[in-house]
Amino acid sequence: MIEFYADGFFKASKELTEVQDAVEEFFSVGVSEILSRGIPDGRGVKEMTYSVEGDKLNIKVRTDNYLRAHDVFLRLRKHLSKVLGRHRIGIRGIEFNEYWIKTESNVPISIKLPFIVKSEWKDGYFMVWLTLTEQDVEKKIPDRIVRLIDEKKKAEEYGGKAENWELIWQSGKKKIHFNKDPTQELLKMRWIKHGASRGQWIYGPQITKIFRAFETIVINEILEPLGYVEMVFPKLVPWDVWKRSGHAKGVYPEIYYVCTPKSRDPHFWEDVIDYYKVTLDVPVDLIKEKIEPPIGGMCYAQCPPFWVFLQGETIADSSLPIRVFDRSGTSHRYESGGIHGIERVDEFHRIEIVWIGYPEQVVEEANKLHERYHHIFEDILELEWRKAWVTPWFMAQEGLAGLSEDIRVGTTDYEAYLPYKNGWLEFQNVSVNGDKYPKGFSVKSQSGDMLWSGCSGVGLERWASAFLAQKGFNPENWPERFVEIVGNLPEGIKFL
Ligand code: ATP
Ligand code: ZN
Ligand code: MG
Repeated sequence: MIEFYADGFFKASKELTEVQDAVEEFFSVGVSEILSRGIPDGRGVKEMTYSVEGDKLNIKVRTDNYLRAHDVFLRLRKHLSKVLGRHRIGIRGIEFNEYWIKTESNVPISIKLPFIVKSEWKDGYFMVWLTLTEQDVEKKIPDRIVRLIDEKKKAEEYGGKAENWELIWQSGKKKIHFNKDPTQELLKMRWIKHGASRGQWIYGPQITKIFRAFETIVINEILEPLGYVEMVFPKLVPWDVWKRSGHAKGVYPEIYYVCTPKSRDPHFWEDVIDYYKVTLDVPVDLIKEKIEPPIGGMCYAQCPPFWVFLQGETIADSSLPIRVFDRSGTSHRYESGGIHGIERVDEFHRIEIVWIGYPEQVVEEANKLHERYHHIFEDILELEWRKAWVTPWFMAQEGLAGLSEDIRVGTTDYEAYLPYKNGWLEFQNVSVNGDKYPKGFSVKSQSGDMLWSGCSGVGLERWASAFLAQKGFNPENWPERFVEIVGNLPEGIKFL
């Protein structure tokens, strides 16, 4: 059950008292037909009154979901301007005195928006009072608020178990040679050092060679045999990309924001420069005044900015499935208190694999990747690992829980056992993203049939965490095939 109430008025260009009769006729004859068009019997308007007052035509209306109170005003506007037009009276606009939405809810809902005057949760109902302009109604603001309330209701009802998790497959036990936290070991050996920024590491020559060995495995075992070609994706992501990818719906708490200067003129920056020279402190508050609001953020999910390459295009069938990958730079997430060792960092390195085609092609491609990964983790790295069917990443990053409606669409997380924690770590995933991206970026196929896409992110820090946590640092305990690929590790830098 949902109810809408609007108390508002049409403002006319002249006094309406002279045309009172015409208005009355309109309401007694034409209105019920206008307001019931396309609406099932007994639905729509539940109660409506009108009155004329100077140049205002007041209307109070209570409705259900079939014809929302604000839409009553839009429907009437068109016809009313015809009626009044005959008397040379125009409609200047619509204004609302009061507007509320009342919906059943067994959970409290917290919602903050400039349109919301007040909200209340009582006796199984949630009510919001809105201040709306005619433009807000035309822009469907109240309708989106209804959808948002619904989303929040569902999220609340899900409670803590926000994300879905279902085991698909689990490997057998593997030889575990280590039971310590690999990051602590890496630090002790000085293979890594903290970067100057939070959640950032500087990787020394030895661990870098291990990262490169992982990349070589991915290239030789997956990308080359399956025909993937390398591209370079942008690493600064403007809002428009995140609007299209859906990230604009939820990713704000984890973004590294990017701002440009308000001016390139050195004089504009002179006070900042002088202040630094004299105090040796960077005057960040002064800088804040001299930079624009954020234009977007640093790379977060890696594939979204690639899609601009295809945006608005029609792809030739001969190019499908498109198979590309990127390993050209870092990803950045503000993980806050969650940072841990090299496992969860604010700056990380990932190979992002992206494929696009007709739905069957995309699903088939995902299956091929699953097979190749299986081979790598079983036969080359000999990991103890498992796969789980989880809330699709693109939904999670929009702040949604649950699963996609199409059972072929979704994310498979790969997790590795961490002996030192007696727990599991997600180290990569494979996703079939459905039509989300082709739709969001307006990409069409030659045949006009729907395109789908998929992506898979190989986190190098996560692979290293998984491998080193299980196998340790003595190459004698490493699987033979891995030792062949990684070769001898370099000496590294000695500190006195
Ligand atoms: P988690 O639940 O561990 O935070 P996530 O669900 O946020 O992971 P995704 O958004 O699915 O992860 O990112 C895909 C991949 O990117 C992960 O499998 C992992 O390899 C890598 N990744 C994500 N966040 C981090 C991080 N903070 N540090 C290192 N690697 C990361
Ligand atoms: Zn992706
Ligand atoms: Mg995360």
